[in-house]
Amino acid sequence: MTRSAAYKEEDAVCGAVLRIEMRGLLVFAALLVAAFSQETFEGDQVLRITAKDEVEISLLQDLSEIDRLQLDFWKDPTHSSLPVDIHVPFNSLQAVKAYLETNEIQYSVMIKDLQVVLDEEQSEMQGARSAQPRNTDGYNYENYHTLSEIYSFMDMLVAENPNLVSKIQIGSSYEKRPLNVLKFSTGSGRPGIWIDTGIHSREWVTQASGTWFAKKIVTDYGSDPALTNLLNSMDIFIEIVTNPDGFHYTHTNNRMWRKTRKPNPGSSCVGVDPNRNWDAGFGGPGASGSPCSETYRGPKAHSEPEVSAIVDFVRSHGNLKAFVSIHAYSQMLLYPYGYTRKPALDQAELHDLAKKAITDLASMYGTRYKYGSIINTIYQASGGTIDWTYKQGIKYSYTF
Ligand SMILES: [Zn+2]
Repeated sequence: MTRSAAYKEEDAVCGAVLRIEMRGLLVFAALLVAAFSQETFEGDQVLRITAKDEVEISLLQDLSEIDRLQLDFWKDPTHSSLPVDIHVPFNSLQAVKAYLETNEIQYSVMIKDLQVVLDEEQSEMQGARSAQPRNTDGYNYENYHTLSEIYSFMDMLVAENPNLVSKIQIGSSYEKRPLNVLKFSTGSGRPGIWIDTGIHSREWVTQASGTWFAKKIVTDYGSDPALTNLLNSMDIFIEIVTNPDGFHYTHTNNRMWRKTRKPNPGSSCVGVDPNRNWDAGFGGPGASGSPCSETYRGPKAHSEPEVSAIVDFVRSHGNLKAFVSIHAYSQMLLYPYGYTRKPALDQAELHDLAKKAITDLASMYGTRYKYGSIINTIYQASGGTIDWTYKQGIKYSYTF
């Protein structure tokens, strides 16, 4: 080999190394972009308004219809007795505050900087995160967890209680994640009780509650008489992560994501509100036809695989006696209907039972809940979960 050929070869090697390094750098840069593509909410505020009359309520409803402000009503304007909480992006703050002041509507700043609160939540999660728990006793029930942590919790619970708990996959999400349901059963051919949490992915306290319910059931079976009697005659089904794609997305990209993650053809906005997608007054008032809305109902009833999996399960089970769907945040126990003012056939019984439930609840810790039908207690909402389950004949259909 001549000296110049050797140099050339060395050049070629250097070039190749450089190319590999550059490719590595590009991959690294792409990872960085992915890691930092998390949506931030710096300077965003949450305003709390207690409207003093119906005029103010209607002014707040008008405000909610101004799309360019990109307001996210965490609590909608309904009755003047209930507070209205609005997440206002930084860029809309001036306009919203001017609107409120012009109309002499009093407000308080509930969250001064949303991102600060989310950062605190993250650091609490990181601080409490220890090594992977080896069993469900070592799981931290007072902290939020990722999707994979909750899925491994389910597997541990099943492995620890093989005679009581099993895992059923009722379908797959749009992004092909398993839709897992825990079944608690001590016999066969029994009627069932359904509980779902997290159908709105950002309502993290609900998935955390579902996890806690699951552990509580295995702990109390055999020692708590009421629960033991119940499980000796009925099965309990719990879907802890009812919207896994959305839940994953709240951890990786946008903490405030509520909908599913299915793209909408012809729109750049993604996802459907899975609590407006059911075949009960579908398409009526109290749901949006716009894919960019947080309450977008979807192209047709049961269009979302996360919803249709439950529909198929309810139909094939055929003997569910109660269906409880859990949301956050508010302190309310609601029964059908949401889509119509027509009272449910069992309204009197559902109302009395709700009253008993919230009275019993208050006796524990003094927690105060409102109760009533969805349409009379919060707002008209069409295509909601429990309106459909009630119409399927599941009398005790409730949402907390
Ligand atoms: Zn919700």
